[in-house]
Amino acid sequence: MAAPQYEIYAVKYAHHDRSSRDNFVGGDSHDVPMPLDYFVWAIRGNGRTWVVDTGFSAEVARQRGREFIRCPGQGLSLLGIDPESVGDVIISHMHYDHAGNAQLFKRARYHLQDREMQFATGRCMCFKPMRFPFDVNDVKAMVDRVFEDRVCFHDGDEEIAPGLTLHRVGGHTMGLQVVRVHTRRGWVVLASDASHFYANIETDRPFPLIYNQADMHEAYRRVYSLASSPAHVIPGHDPLVMKRYPAPSEALRGVAVRLDADPIAA
Ligand SMILES: [Zn+2]
Ligand SMILES: [Zn+2]
Repeated sequence: MAAPQYEIYAVKYAHHDRSSRDNFVGGDSHDVPMPLDYFVWAIRGNGRTWVVDTGFSAEVARQRGREFIRCPGQGLSLLGIDPESVGDVIISHMHYDHAGNAQLFKRARYHLQDREMQFATGRCMCFKPMRFPFDVNDVKAMVDRVFEDRVCFHDGDEEIAPGLTLHRVGGHTMGLQVVRVHTRRGWVVLASDASHFYANIETDRPFPLIYNQADMHEAYRRVYSLASSPAHVIPGHDPLVMKRYPAPSEALRGVAVRLDADPIAA
C-alpha cells in the first residue's frame, strides 16, 4: 500500500540579524547581512499531528538577544493545532532554539535520539562552547519526561508512522536527527540544523557550530539522498523558506508556509 501523504507547515516564531561571515566555517568573503529565522514545524495527516521542535520562549529570547515574533504554541494554534492536545513531538536536537517551552506540550510523547540525550547530559557539556547553545532547563525537563514515561528514544533510522521516518545524521550535535515525510510532491526532508541555510548544504560549507565536521559533510549527502530532489530539502533557519513556499491562507501570510506544496519561487 502506498504511504499516506502528509501536510507540512513551517511556523516562524523568531528572527536574528547577523552577517554572512558568522554563518560558515572559515567565514564568508561576501560579508553581507544574512539573518536567521527560527521555526517549528508541524506534520499532519492520516488523522494524526506531529510537531517537530518546540522553539524558545520570550524570556529566553530576551536572555539571548533574539527578536521574538510569537510563541511557537500561538503560531501552531493559528494553524488549528492545540499544543495541549498534541500527542507526539519530534526533537531534532536539544539546542535551546529547538527544545524549549517545556510546559507547552503537556500530553506529548517526545521522540529523541539516544545520542542526543547522551550529548546533552554527558561529558561534552563540560566544554563551555558545546554547552552554550543548550539551556539547562530544557535538559532537565527532558530528564523529567524520561521518568514520566514520555520519551521515545530512537537509535539511527526509524519509521514512526507509514511515510514518516527519523534519521540520525549527527554532525551539528552528537544526535541530530532529520525528518523525512511523504507528501503529495514526494519525499520532503526537514533538515533542521543539519543545514541552517540552503547555502550551507549547497556549497558544502558548514555552519560554525559543530560536534563533528566530517559528519556534517556526510549529513549533507544523506539529506540529499533522502529527499526526492534538492528542492525537497528544508533548511532549519533560512528566511528564504518563507519566500519559497506559499502561506496556508491569506490570514497566515508571514506566519507559516506549506512545505508539502510546490515552491512558488526558486
Ligand atoms: Zn542547533
Ligand atoms: Zn537551530
